[in-house]
Amino acid sequence: MRTVHVPLGNRSYDIKIAPGLIDRFGRECARLKLAARCVIITDTNVGKRYAKTVFNSLATAGFSPSLIIVQPGETAKSLKTVRSCYDQLAVHRLERKSFIVALGGGVVGDLAGFVAATYLRGLAFVQVPTTLLAQVDSSVGGKVGVNLKAGKNLVGAFFQPKLVLCDLDTLKTLPDREFRAGLAEVIKYGIIYDAKLFAQLARDLPKILKRDRTILAPVIARCCEIKAEVVGKDETDDGPRAILNFGHTIGHAIENISGYGKFLHGEAISIGQVAAAKLSHQIVGLPERDVARIENLFRRASLPVQTGMKSAKRQKLLAAMRLDKKVSDGEIKFVLAERIGHAVWGRRVPDGKIVQVLDS
Ligand code: ADP
Ligand code: ZN
Repeated sequence: MRTVHVPLGNRSYDIKIAPGLIDRFGRECARLKLAARCVIITDTNVGKRYAKTVFNSLATAGFSPSLIIVQPGETAKSLKTVRSCYDQLAVHRLERKSFIVALGGGVVGDLAGFVAATYLRGLAFVQVPTTLLAQVDSSVGGKVGVNLKAGKNLVGAFFQPKLVLCDLDTLKTLPDREFRAGLAEVIKYGIIYDAKLFAQLARDLPKILKRDRTILAPVIARCCEIKAEVVGKDETDDGPRAILNFGHTIGHAIENISGYGKFLHGEAISIGQVAAAKLSHQIVGLPERDVARIENLFRRASLPVQTGMKSAKRQKLLAAMRLDKKVSDGEIKFVLAERIGHAVWGRRVPDGKIVQVLDS
């Protein structure tokens, strides 16, 4: 088993990465000295595959679990679902020392984490991320929250879990498109922080696409380590943490103006990262050869590298970027890579250049 420690003072926690973890989930929770009452929050897709194992493992270890099942997909990240979860927690008589288990992808993690952060002013929270994206991204950093009609993640909190268990076996049932989308975040860590990781991904991609556990385990652990290191420097944003948004300024705008479900988050940031690499070449001197290596890796992972949008729609993209909550004083700031393995943040990029690199 691999363990990544996330050092955040008295809110520090471990991320454990191994196959077979949900079978011994109860025993892992027992170490945390939590109360017996707990509630597993999951969605229908993940619930039908894994809830029983998690439930039985908790019961065997002496806990008394209950189950809340929500609809799958981004629409479940709403205040309506939050309220329904609160009502069910009240029925199950959860108390201050009870805990919540988030079993699922990023959607369930963000939703259940927000419920845990707010019910009774905060319950302990254990995360079992079951998508590649959630394992390498949303399980580290403590951002929890839900969407409003006006935009994604507009209501939320920073709230750290007590423990994160990444069970590699759960990735076996993840739909192919979701798996590849998760890889877009994995590749991001190579570009912004770790040239060796990037080279390894380029070399081992065929095995990774086959979900070879021996390769995946250290890769997932390295991504968590990088995110933990970056978040440790800057728990709340704006400073060094901003590099995690590489490819996301354009990516979020693509998600916002395309219809729901057209691009998965990972697909949108794949396009965003290729565009950011091209901007990096023009503005901070990322060698042309590295731009090509980056684009090539996303292509080989069957991820999109262009929006395919007509020019009028690309103008709409710019407008959407201006609405991003990271924009201050109307100026769009970018994360750029000076070389593979090193990113800088807060760089101003003229609108003309953005339009030019999109679909060039
Ligand atoms: P993300 O982690 O990318 O934010 P979601 O939480 O929306 O995404 O999960 C993506 C989809 O994959 C959802 O429909 C979810 O129910 C499903 N899912 C999550 N984990 C698994 C898994 N291990 N096996 C099968 N389907 C899964
Ligand atoms: Zn992301």
